[in-house]
Amino acid sequence: MILTADYHTHTPYSHGKNTVEENAEQAQKLGLKQLGISDHGFSHVAFGVRRRQIQDYRRDCKIASEKYGLDVLVGIEANIRGVDGKADLKPSDYENFDIYFCGKHVFVWYSKFSDFLGYGCGNFWFDKFGKKPSEKLLHRNTKAYVNTIKNNPIDAITHLNYLCPANALEVAKCASDYGTYIELNAKKCHLTDDELCEIVQKTDARFLINSDAHSAKRVGEIQLVEEQLTRVNFPLERIDNIDGRLPKFRFAEFKKSL
Ligand SMILES: [Zn+2]
Ligand SMILES: [Zn+2]
Repeated sequence: MILTADYHTHTPYSHGKNTVEENAEQAQKLGLKQLGISDHGFSHVAFGVRRRQIQDYRRDCKIASEKYGLDVLVGIEANIRGVDGKADLKPSDYENFDIYFCGKHVFVWYSKFSDFLGYGCGNFWFDKFGKKPSEKLLHRNTKAYVNTIKNNPIDAITHLNYLCPANALEVAKCASDYGTYIELNAKKCHLTDDELCEIVQKTDARFLINSDAHSAKRVGEIQLVEEQLTRVNFPLERIDNIDGRLPKFRFAEFKKSL
């Protein structure tokens, strides 16, 4: 299995260590065709890229593309902001980005106070002290994922189930219906082997493998995912950024239709 592209990498625009150019240099060394710079979204309290930085962010991606001869896509890893599926980008932001990813993070400006309490604090408490998620928490989290996919032209859900245990099968069914990818995140496997097998068997969901690199040396590093895929005998044809394949991104298609 050879990685064609890595779409989830961070830079100091959020809390990555190396610059856009340094990530691109590493991507070029690895022979990747595309690289995504997807720093944290605006509603991340501490690390979100700021709207006033976007023109610099775009310029850095363009310079790195030209210097290293690969497509450096301007991305964002937006935040799920609550159960109603609000995410970071407004339609007026769309023109500034090539790819639009979304995931659950802590320290986010939630959509409503009830989301801060139920979705934010509920998951934070579970992450620190919980053992088995309650039905109520699972239901709320699943709804947040599903509504985010339905209400925004999201290309991929990042690290599904991280900080936010949900019914992964239901989320994957929705993702498949809407053309949103499920990310297999190489920093940590957040889907169990059983969850992954069930998604493959019972849905048509498609997948991307990403490093979630916060430093240039980790760009393209996917060993942890490879180990899981081997363990579960995963059908590699379901992954759209390996072995020469490039994904068909929902966000780009959506923007063409505007
Ligand atoms: Zn993330
Ligand atoms: Zn990330």
